[in-house]
Amino acid sequence: MTDKVKLADLIKCTGCTACASICKHNAIAMTENEDGFEYPKIDIDKCINCGACVRVCPIINPVLNDEKYQKIFAAVGCNSNEVKKSSSGGIFPLLAKEVLLQGGKVYGCRILNGDRAVHTVVETEEELELLRGSKYIQSSIGRVFQQVEEDLSHNKKVLFSGTPCQAAGLKAYLKREYSNLLIVDLVCHGVPSYKFFKEYICWLEKKKNVKVLAYDFRDKTKTDLGCVAKIRYLKGKKEKIRFSKYSSDFYYYYYYMLGKIYRKSCYFCPYANANRISDITLGDFWGITHIHPEISIDNGMSVVMINSIKGQKYFDKIEAYKYPSNLEEAVAYNKSIISSINYPKERDEILRLSRECGGDAVEKFFRKEVGTKQLIYCLKGIVPIKVKRKIKSIFHWRK
Ligand SMILES: Cc1cc2nc3c(=O)[nH]c(=O)nc-3n(C[C@H](O)[C@H](O)[C@H](O)COP(=O)(O)OP(=O)(O)OC[C@H]3O[C@@H](n4cnc5c(N)ncnc54)[C@H](O)[C@@H]3O)c2cc1C
Ligand code: SF4
Ligand code: SF4
Repeated sequence: MTDKVKLADLIKCTGCTACASICKHNAIAMTENEDGFEYPKIDIDKCINCGACVRVCPIINPVLNDEKYQKIFAAVGCNSNEVKKSSSGGIFPLLAKEVLLQGGKVYGCRILNGDRAVHTVVETEEELELLRGSKYIQSSIGRVFQQVEEDLSHNKKVLFSGTPCQAAGLKAYLKREYSNLLIVDLVCHGVPSYKFFKEYICWLEKKKNVKVLAYDFRDKTKTDLGCVAKIRYLKGKKEKIRFSKYSSDFYYYYYYMLGKIYRKSCYFCPYANANRISDITLGDFWGITHIHPEISIDNGMSVVMINSIKGQKYFDKIEAYKYPSNLEEAVAYNKSIISSINYPKERDEILRLSRECGGDAVEKFFRKEVGTKQLIYCLKGIVPIKVKRKIKSIFHWRK
């Protein structure tokens, strides 16, 4: 019987897995829809209508942070070689190392088989490298919430990192606070599905007659802020590298950055707001060069929102350059901290093209949309960073 069981609407369900994880009767499985996004599916033969899944759903019963603690910083790790390997200011690995040092475990997102993102646990600094860097596809949580609960009940220190909806899902699932749990969420403007990404990689391989070995969503070789993807591939027997700028290359990065290929729930995300439910929120401090031109940024700068006293204690322990800031500055160039973007009219058509016609059709759609804008983007792309900075600083002084 499932007549009483009404989970979140499909348009709002984030796929967090809290409902599937709480069900003691294994009546809920996470299954992929046609675009590759996971949704809960109830097995009516196993369901006893207890309602536990509905009560735990963070969309139906929003998770709140009652602590009313908030401090905001711009921050970057002190070791520039380490920071270069991370997507933004390299704050996540520093927090993670602190937890590992205390004998704890760290949960986060890694790439599997080149085109899937999954949550996993690491226990050593070597393994931590897997979690480093943003992967711009939705990560599959699997059974991780149960694993976290088990670790916590064995008094292990645990750091869980993920998108705000995943953090909300975990908090809802656990139902109570744990002093040995540190939750780190990300500023997030949305996630595409692994299936859309996989189609893109297949298309790229066919079009360029190459074998893609690795796709790094944010690489800092060409820009200090890392908004360039690095693709490592084999052409014949030769290994090569190609950098893909979001605005002047193929369709994936462009559509990701412009928010046109996300999960539906991302356009209605209740956790994109200033009252973060995690202990620490990490993002990019976009616009820092305009807001604080006196701060030099060589390899990226994080916005760090401290949302609890526990979070503050961890942040105090890490070795980083920390510059006090505030919400107004953090949000000035980064609206994802406080709001989600509108549902783009092209979103469904782009996903349909990828699903039904493949990458060629999406690329054609993209070329038509971008048109001459691309030439300007390309020209921008060949100006060296130092020259760009110089031009920006001239304009800044003139304002
Ligand atoms: C999908 C996504 C969207 C984002 N959107 C924004 C944004 O709009 N504005 C903004 O300011 N910042 C955004 N970020 C955050 C930013 O890109 C950095 O991840 C963050 O600042 C941490 O950087 P770092 O240098 O401290 O750590 P890094 O070493 O870069 O660590 C990356 C961390 O992100 C986690 N992670 C990576 N990919 C995923 C994923 N797919 N799902 C869940 N967790 C993941 C890892 O587990 C790790 O904890 C986004 C991140 C992701 C993953
Ligand atoms: S608990 Fe998570 S996966 Fe389940 S219905 Fe709610 S949002 Fe969707
Ligand atoms: S935008 Fe919101 S719903 Fe979408 S992945 Fe990010 S936190 Fe989850």
